[in-house]
Amino acid sequence: MKRFRCGDVVPGCTARFEGSEDEILAQVGAHATRDHGLTEVPPELVQAVRAAMQPA
Ligand SMILES: [Zn+2]
Repeated sequence: MKRFRCGDVVPGCTARFEGSEDEILAQVGAHATRDHGLTEVPPELVQAVRAAMQPA
């Protein structure tokens, strides 16, 4: 299990996610398109999210 705080990548965002890496990436993808206005999740963001994940 991992956890991820969106605020580590997007300053000011309070969203938090928990689960496996793949689950978190799926949740972050939905969150980024819904709440951050992205039309797609670029590879750089996936890498940033993976790097910012912490053990839960
Ligand atoms: Zn966010």
